Amino acid sequence: MDAEQLRENAHKMVDFIADYYKSLEEFPVLSQVKPGYLSELLPVSAPMQPESLQDILKDVQQQIIPGVTHWQSPNFFAYYPSNSSIAGFLGEMLSASFNIVGFSWITSPAATELEVVVLDWVAKMLKLPDQFHSSGLGGGVIQGTASEAILVSLLAARDKILRKDGNEYLSKLTVYASDQTHSALKKACQIAGIYPANFRILKAEQNSSYALAPEALAEAISTDLSSGFIPFFLCATVGTTSSAAVDPLSALGKIAKANNLWFHIDAAYAGNACICPEYRYYIDGVEEADSFGMNAHKWLLTNFDCSLLWVKNRSALIQSLSTNPEFLKNKASQENRVIDFKDWQIPLGRRFRSLKLWMVMRMYGQENLQNYIRNHISLAKKFEQHVLSDSRFEVVAPQAFSLVCFRLIPPPNHHENSDTLNYSLMNSTNSSGKIFLSHTVLSGMFVLRLAVGAPLTEERHINEAWKVLQDQATTLLGSF
Ligand code: PLP
Repeated sequence: MDAEQLRENAHKMVDFIADYYKSLEEFPVLSQVKPGYLSELLPVSAPMQPESLQDILKDVQQQIIPGVTHWQSPNFFAYYPSNSSIAGFLGEMLSASFNIVGFSWITSPAATELEVVVLDWVAKMLKLPDQFHSSGLGGGVIQGTASEAILVSLLAARDKILRKDGNEYLSKLTVYASDQTHSALKKACQIAGIYPANFRILKAEQNSSYALAPEALAEAISTDLSSGFIPFFLCATVGTTSSAAVDPLSALGKIAKANNLWFHIDAAYAGNACICPEYRYYIDGVEEADSFGMNAHKWLLTNFDCSLLWVKNRSALIQSLSTNPEFLKNKASQENRVIDFKDWQIPLGRRFRSLKLWMVMRMYGQENLQNYIRNHISLAKKFEQHVLSDSRFEVVAPQAFSLVCFRLIPPPNHHENSDTLNYSLMNSTNSSGKIFLSHTVLSGMFVLRLAVGAPLTEERHINEAWKVLQDQATTLLGSF
């Protein structure tokens, strides 16, 4: 890497990226290309000779950007957000510059130690119990995704019980969660070898809270115990993917504890809101948990990927995931004086991801981060008010965090049912390119989800999004 060439090219790239952000609102939010569009534009083999950055950036503009769905657009309201920020971006640059592979402490002590410090900082911001801090038996680690956080927690729990009972009991191990739990748990069970028939998907309450009732959990555990199963893992969610529902952590956690279950809390999106004192109550009961996950890359201005996982007992993770091949042995690890994060995760290699989180904390500070979350929640409330003000629409679940679930109500004699009508509304809205929102099914009903969370979204974007939806609704209803 020639430093002067890097300087020249990186300046050009930063200019290109700044121009991209400046013109972000001009692009259709949802990419409008057809499958296979790119292979028709690109040569069939890699170039034999070098090409200029200028030519490549021209192709990015003409060929790549049309195939990008603009998650950073202020008009992106689909799924849950994936945040970027100047601090997060600069942290990514720095991480790319060092390009270390920090699997063991020795491979870059700063990478491991900064991760420990920053995860303790965030644990403090969330007021997690002391056991989750590195000073006790637990600690935090950065995973790539919430799915990996769930998987490693499940593996730790599985191996803890198999060490005690014996491997032959794998077929008896039973997992509990509500039907609103993210599909990541099902995938984790598949990977961990949990028998598919032993995954208890309990029906969430249908009273629009969509929370897991403690009585349903207690009953399922008791039935399983009397049939010879071994209940061992409960996953509760704070901010479900469909409707941002919150499971009652304290009550569920007590049942889990009484029955020796590992209790994982998946707060991938909504956990971020709990850095605000007024929203902290959503994770009351976290003291009962064995592990707690939250994606800073979703809603804390930290570029993807940066999924935070805290465990109360790090040795359970390490016993499940550690390896000690000769070629990685070193004095610091052998003397047990350091953390080797390779033993807290699935892969060996790992990036220097704590840098971007550290930069976010330092360049914005806790107060700005709290206000950032508050602003999105108030924008979501504003959108909910819009929906409530138009009798053609209804809010389907209580507005929670920065998510609004709503639908267009088919008028009497309308020839389409509610699901088809709302499917059409979503498709026509998204293909307008003006905004992008997604859907879910709640109580068997197709509903639209509008999640506020892109860093550039302002009130005018919310008002404009609502106008787009109203206009599309008028066109759809008017045409029948
Ligand atoms: N859990 C919840 C509650 C989510 O909302 C999501 C994604 O939106 C996930 C887990 C999966 O996240 P990841 O892509 O980080 O695995």
